[in-house]
Amino acid sequence: MERQISGASSVVCSSCGAVLSSEHLYCDQCGKRVEGAVECPACQSAIPRDSQFCDQCGVALT
Ligand SMILES: [Zn+2]
Ligand SMILES: [Zn+2]
Repeated sequence: MERQISGASSVVCSSCGAVLSSEHLYCDQCGKRVEGAVECPACQSAIPRDSQFCDQCGVALT
């Protein structure tokens, strides 16, 4: 199987295989939590993995 590497960060649901953008915390299709998704400890927003700060509340992610 060929893997597409694109500039946009995307993740594949480990449960159903749906391709989701990395801002998703939970799969659109099956509702499973996306592996590698980062959730802000302060405001529970989904944050792209490479973010250093929450874009919702600005808390530093370490
Ligand atoms: Zn899924
Ligand atoms: Zn936050």
